[in-house]
Amino acid sequence: MRPKILITDKIHDSAIEEARSFADVDLEFDIPPDRLIKKIRDYDALIVRSSTKVTKDVIERSNLKIIGRAGVGLDNIDVEAACKKNIEVVNSPEASTIAVAELVIGSLITLLRKIHHAHHSMREGRWERSRFTGNELFGKTLGIIGFGRIGREVADRANAFGMNVQVYDPVITVEDARESNCRFSEIEDLLKTSDIVTLHVPLTKETKNIIGQKRLSLMKPYAVLVNIARGGLVDEKALYDALKNNRLRGAVLDVFEEEPPKVQLFRDLENVVLTPHLGASTDEAQINAGTVVVEKIRNFFRSQN
Ligand code: NAD
Repeated sequence: MRPKILITDKIHDSAIEEARSFADVDLEFDIPPDRLIKKIRDYDALIVRSSTKVTKDVIERSNLKIIGRAGVGLDNIDVEAACKKNIEVVNSPEASTIAVAELVIGSLITLLRKIHHAHHSMREGRWERSRFTGNELFGKTLGIIGFGRIGREVADRANAFGMNVQVYDPVITVEDARESNCRFSEIEDLLKTSDIVTLHVPLTKETKNIIGQKRLSLMKPYAVLVNIARGGLVDEKALYDALKNNRLRGAVLDVFEEEPPKVQLFRDLENVVLTPHLGASTDEAQINAGTVVVEKIRNFFRSQN
């Protein structure tokens, strides 16, 4: 029997097509909660992004076998209620790994070569060659905090640029790091010896403000900090002070404590590259977010037969 799938948030057409190859698929976007509760009992699987709230009520009245969240995070799904009903929950955090890793390298080069300022200057009709002398990645030491999916992809790209890569992650070993052509380093040593430090950890109780005033003060003078992971990992006020006083050379920030920020703390600084949470914003990552989840759902139903 072909499974029945309900999709209630927009996912990429190619993912919908793929779902139709093994299941009967209905689409209904912006579905009101009451209607979802009524409709859900006819389906084996539900696919959402972040808009649909898959509440305890929805779950309890359903006959679902699996819920797929296209993208990172499961905040809009009551996972506990799903677990109690033995409903599998899958998502696709791996979909944006390459997009984030490429943005790390791209933003770093933008900062170090002052591309954003040079571009702006030319658009204003100027030709200021001597103002925009920059620096290279080659030969610099990159410290990666969090050596999971994204951290590892960043390491591969940094190695290709001829950087020395050191990593800290509590769950990896010295050998693990070495296999990826990296050196394992404890976090304090990594901060003291890196020219660039990039964060690739989740935001948890343990990692909140993992980079605060004290750790910023350990960083090399003129080092660069990159946060394309989560707002809340860095104490923004302490970072602002370090950048304002040129204690640090610069920062790349894609994520903020408050999004969108009511007041953009960093906007008067020259030594930053700021982006509005664009880490996963590529066509490829958007396609992957849907197709990876659909693939997981297909495998789930295959394993049930
Ligand atoms: P992952 O789970 O594969 O890797 C995270 C790693 O962090 C794990 O290896 C874990 O052991 C490590 N870690 C946990 N606590 C740590 C600590 N205290 N110190 C050092 N390491 C620690 O996750 P990922 O897919 O690599 O994603 C990393 C981060 O990037 C996540 O926070 C994710 O939310 C964020 N992200 C941001 C965007 C964006 O749009 N900017 C997009 C995707 C992911």
